[in-house]
Formats: sequence, C-alpha cells, structure tokens
Amino acid sequence: MVIIWFRANHQRLLEREASQDTVHEEFEQNITAVKKYLEAWNRSGWLNETLRYLPRNHVFKTTVYLIIDYDNDVFGENVALNLNIRQFHADHREAVYYLIHELAHAGYLRYHRMPELASAKTLGDLCAIVKFLTYLEGMGVISSLRLRTREEGFIRQRLQGASQRCRESKEGS
Ligand SMILES: [Zn+2]
Repeated sequence: MVIIWFRANHQRLLEREASQDTVHEEFEQNITAVKKYLEAWNRSGWLNETLRYLPRNHVFKTTVYLIIDYDNDVFGENVALNLNIRQFHADHREAVYYLIHELAHAGYLRYHRMPELASAKTLGDLCAIVKFLTYLEGMGVISSLRLRTREEGFIRQRLQGASQRCRESKEGS
C-alpha cells in the first residue's frame, strides 16, 4: 500500500486563503496535525482492523491519496482521504477511523463489482443496488467500530447528536 500526499493541492489552497492570516495559520496547523497523527500510527494497527473483515489472504494494492478538500472516497481499489474535514481537526482519531472505513470499501470492491445505477431497469434491480450499497457502507462502519469503541472515539457524541436530531425532527413535524 502506498500513501501519497498531494502537496500541490495543499499549496493552491494555502494561496487561496493567504489573504486571511489567522485562517491560513489555523488551516496549516490543522492539516499538519492530522497528517502527523496518521504518520505516527504503526501502519499495521489500522491495516489489521480493516483486514479483519476481508478474506484471509487479502493483500491491498491500494494507493491512499491524502488530499485537501473534496471528500473521503474510494475509486476502484484506491482511496482518497480529505485532511480538511472539521471532524478530523476536532479529533484526529477520526482520520484513522475514516481511513479504515474507505479501505474496507476498497477491499470489498476487489471481490464485488460496484453496480451502475443507470443499469437498473426494474424495482428489483434498484433494490439489489440499495442492498449492495448498504452492505458496502455497513462494512465500512463495522471495520472501524472495534478501534472506535476501544478508544471511545466519538461514539457517545454521535449517538447523542443523532437522538437530538431525531427529537428535533419529531418536534418539527
Ligand atoms: Zn463509506
């Protein structure tokens, strides 16, 4: 597995934000801190968490692109991790949880082809795609859950946030 850092993109964003010195400084510190946190990890730590849910002999042929802006995503077996996510800045552990999440997708897609939404012709086709995507996301969530639980990473806050939103939507309806 290769991890690539996109400095060019980083530089472009720094130039864009250069007019606001405080924002620029905070931005630089946040990105650097998340990157350092990721680098400080022993790679086998997060890799083994992902491999727990993949076939025993799975070997990643993945390139992880550390990017700034856009999103966390998987492209075939490669992964993009956006270091400019507020959640990562608030708690650096989130970057590792999301890395595991995206790697779980990359691993799963070795064995299962991503369905094309445009190919759905019937309700059954559409249901199969929804099931596939639900399973794919579920795998991403479950793969990082053990580490997240062990570290008590944001689970309590997330559940509180979800139940608060639920209460608000009930009150609003
Ligand atoms: Zn996902």
